[in-house]
Amino acid sequence: MAEPLVVTGGSLLDAKSEQQADLLIADGEIADIGDPGAFNGKGLEVDASDALVMPGFVDIQVHFRTPGGEESEDISSGAAGAALGGVTACLMMPNTVPTIDNPDLVSEVLRLGRDTPCDVYTSAAITVDRAGESLVDFVALYEAGVRVFTDDGTVVDSEDLMRGALEASSQFPDVVISQHAEHSAMVEGGVINQGVVSDRLGLKGRPSEAEVIIVERDIALAKQTGGRYHVLHISTAAASDRVRNAKAAGLRVSAEVTPQHLILTEEDVERLGTSGKMNPPLRTAADVEGLRAALFDGTIDAVATDHAPHSPSSKAVDLPDAPPGMLGVETMASVIWNEFVARGLMTPQRFVALLSASPAAIAGISTHGAPFAIGVPANIAIFDPRERWIIEPNELQSKSVNTPWPHKDVQGRVRHTICNGALVVHHGTLT
Ligand SMILES: [Zn+2]
Repeated sequence: MAEPLVVTGGSLLDAKSEQQADLLIADGEIADIGDPGAFNGKGLEVDASDALVMPGFVDIQVHFRTPGGEESEDISSGAAGAALGGVTACLMMPNTVPTIDNPDLVSEVLRLGRDTPCDVYTSAAITVDRAGESLVDFVALYEAGVRVFTDDGTVVDSEDLMRGALEASSQFPDVVISQHAEHSAMVEGGVINQGVVSDRLGLKGRPSEAEVIIVERDIALAKQTGGRYHVLHISTAAASDRVRNAKAAGLRVSAEVTPQHLILTEEDVERLGTSGKMNPPLRTAADVEGLRAALFDGTIDAVATDHAPHSPSSKAVDLPDAPPGMLGVETMASVIWNEFVARGLMTPQRFVALLSASPAAIAGISTHGAPFAIGVPANIAIFDPRERWIIEPNELQSKSVNTPWPHKDVQGRVRHTICNGALVVHHGTLT
């Protein structure tokens, strides 16, 4: 067991409250909470002066490319970037080669995640091999620890299969069916958002209606089945309106949004090149406005990054040929703090709810995101809200460099990360 830690001089901030207090951490848990200085000499001192001590962040959409894509990222490199970003729990997506659609592969990737500086969880596919033909064995995968099912990367086109998946999910109290909501036929061959930029560049677009039509259909299926439904990386104002209405009707529906969809638009693709290409694509300024409104009013439950590394060579091609996806797990907290909290658009409490408690609840991750209390597992991000830094693609921990934030100057940075009571990042460096 790691030596006891004394987190001192900071302000404890969780989704419920803020107080100036120190923490004593031992045996992987918060052993005590006391006045500043109360635990001096009782363990390794972790300096949190002028910093916020928060429940560790939880990123419920990451692609760590294991198995099959380890030249772009692997579980170790992905988890290391996560820890540097204050992320103490990650949920991997199953669109690997082969697909994570069976208990053996679930056990294997969880094993690979065990000795990393982050708690690594995995989702599993909804359909066998993500082929959209037959459903996976939900019971066996549940028993293997899976709580989130998704064919992410592609949509479940078949209404019958989606209904079956939602019916299966309703048998378990804590299972969710997550959808990459883009109607396949409508986006086939599409490169970026269908709009002024796709017209200007002469590229086939991916229309926003492709998202809306799937979200609408799935909400209707959630209503019919009583199943729990989650929209991955929601990207349009119109789809977030559908989620708002579904919630008002009492349905079990949730949604997450990426930092990039909250901040960037289709216009940024020309500046970013292939690093600005993802699915669903960056949309319009009106969509950004609608997504922000949905985030602020609670329609959107969580921020998740869709951390999607692609090797530099695979991205060094023309836009139509480049694989879709952007890095995110290491920069999420800084980018959201800089853009929203530092500008007074979001409270610190809402920040920590969106990045920690709420995503943990969606994905059924019970050991992360809880308010500070004695006996709670010590998964903690210590964040300096004033430190400025510049995001340099080559300095990120990922094996890939396709960040949508190259050379961006941001305010707010993770100083230390504690995962299961161990100090895994100390003064911005992996231990
Ligand atoms: Zn996706």
